[in-house]
Amino acid sequence: MKCAVISDVHANLEALTAVLADIRKTDISEILFLGDAVGYGPDPEVCVKILSSECDLLIAGNHDHALVGLTSVLSFNPYAKAAMEWTRSVISAETVAVLKRLPFIAETPDGRMFLAHSSPMEYTQWHYLSTPSDAALNFGFFKNRLCFVGHSHKPSIFERLPAGDIIVKNTESVFGNENRYIINAGSVGQPRDGDPRACYAVLDDDSVRLRRVEYEIRLTQEKMARLGLPGQLIDRLSRGV
Ligand code: ZN
Repeated sequence: MKCAVISDVHANLEALTAVLADIRKTDISEILFLGDAVGYGPDPEVCVKILSSECDLLIAGNHDHALVGLTSVLSFNPYAKAAMEWTRSVISAETVAVLKRLPFIAETPDGRMFLAHSSPMEYTQWHYLSTPSDAALNFGFFKNRLCFVGHSHKPSIFERLPAGDIIVKNTESVFGNENRYIINAGSVGQPRDGDPRACYAVLDDDSVRLRRVEYEIRLTQEKMARLGLPGQLIDRLSRGV
């Protein structure tokens, strides 16, 4: 069974719509969401609504929890803080209630996958899992064969061989029998790996692939400018940083 794993939408409706259209062209039967529906972008309300209705499993990101007062914005940069304040001014009580119910972590019912927005280790602390040594440490904090994370907005596949060595792959991996995997699904709505296209992961029975999808970046940027969101957040979308 094929499934899509999407993360870090950040209120970018154009990117989310493009990714969902790409998913619908295939035989993908399930969509899992790794958190950060809101923050940075111009369409928080509708993005939460779409994700709630389209995804089979959803967990919280730090921006979702910050919006509803469950985590502090102290670690946020000034632009992220400004966007968060704007988001608070437009979000409905109903959407706040939806975000408050999202858990930090989840496992798929078949036990195959562990999901965390930031990292399996101390998942309430929102650590970044970016390097092979971060990955090596984190393999000790879940038992499942596969783990999906987001948060860094940098897609990557960390493969752990039985002896403990970590191999990093950038676009796809065919699963080896005894190996375990931590997969960063990248970001739908604000990629930071130098490629501005929306990113998500496609998981098949024996492989995982990171897909890129073009979307109308200009449209999202125009909306952000009209709403008075910070120029730095508008500009970074076209550069993918
Ligand atoms: Zn994020």
